[in-house]
Amino acid sequence: MRRILVTGAGGFIGHHLVTFLKQQGYWVRGVDLKHPEFSATAADEFLLLDLRRWENCLRATSEVDEVYNLAADMGGIGFIESHKALIMHNSVLINIHMLEATRVNGIDKFLFTSSACIYPAYKQTLTDVTPLKEEDAYPADAEDGYGWEKLFTERQCRHYREDYGLKTYVVRFHNIFGPLGTFDGGREKSPAAICRKIALAKADDEIEVWGDGKQTRSYCYVSDCVEGIYRLMQSEFHDPINLGQDRLVSINQLVDIVAKIAGKTIRKRHDLTKPQGVRGRNADLTLMQKTLGWEPKVSLEEGLRETYKWIQQQLQAHGRI
Ligand code: NAD
Repeated sequence: MRRILVTGAGGFIGHHLVTFLKQQGYWVRGVDLKHPEFSATAADEFLLLDLRRWENCLRATSEVDEVYNLAADMGGIGFIESHKALIMHNSVLINIHMLEATRVNGIDKFLFTSSACIYPAYKQTLTDVTPLKEEDAYPADAEDGYGWEKLFTERQCRHYREDYGLKTYVVRFHNIFGPLGTFDGGREKSPAAICRKIALAKADDEIEVWGDGKQTRSYCYVSDCVEGIYRLMQSEFHDPINLGQDRLVSINQLVDIVAKIAGKTIRKRHDLTKPQGVRGRNADLTLMQKTLGWEPKVSLEEGLRETYKWIQQQLQAHGRI
């Protein structure tokens, strides 16, 4: 039985990935600073380790065949715009040590989870944006802090492949969402924040929306995300590749969809002082479709229905509604 290490296994996508890999029959070791917050891990072994430290990376990568390296210091736009030094410091240490420990322990395959935040700001100035292709990454002008660290580690993955023959895989996620993710506390992303605000609102109420709400994004449900990265790891494709959906919606539309799911009449109070990131961002999925012969299938409405239901249950369980 192949043995797989998932780092960031206490986080949102890592936790779902561990469950998925167990369902495929693998032996799985999860590593994180913390246990998953909302449900128990399915991992065969779960180690609490700080992967900024070299000796912990060596321990995490001992006696495994493949590494899915998801650990990162990250959050939504509010967090990444105000913690640039912290994010770069922590994530550079994690990724530099994890790549080297993977090599030293003679492991075959290493996955790095990059982000749409590596794409240049100058390609994302319009709400009606052209979907981003992988080659659009250069000339680089990534999201400050978080995006630059991802771009740096993407390149280090390529150097490890070219110089040492390590099979590295680099996936660029575009706004992954779903149940069992952070929905409160400042690190949550837009779908979770909107679901929380609407769940807490009255049947006829107003919620705060960051920016003018016209900024656009595309969103991908977490079950499609973990299937996509698993499929990528079975391939021989080693260049960076987008993983997401290409249905572009504005934040205002996202609010309207969630309000409809909740059966509430929601008005929007736009706060123009809050960060809103790039004006528009969409994923070109041509390479993913061609390389994997596959694409995500869960619709935005379906995914948001599941996410809203779960966040509402969480708020009820904690006596907040
Ligand atoms: P998450 O924050 O839920 O998970 C990341 C996990 O890494 C957390 O559980 C955290 O505790 C852990 N971690 C942080 N520092 C650590 C350390 N020093 N040692 C060990 N563990 C540490 O985030 P997520 O949404 O599950 O994202 C997973 C990966 O996907 C990350 O690399 C992220 O940058 C990338 N990504 C996510 C999205 C998205 O929309 N969720 C988009 C683009 C890229």
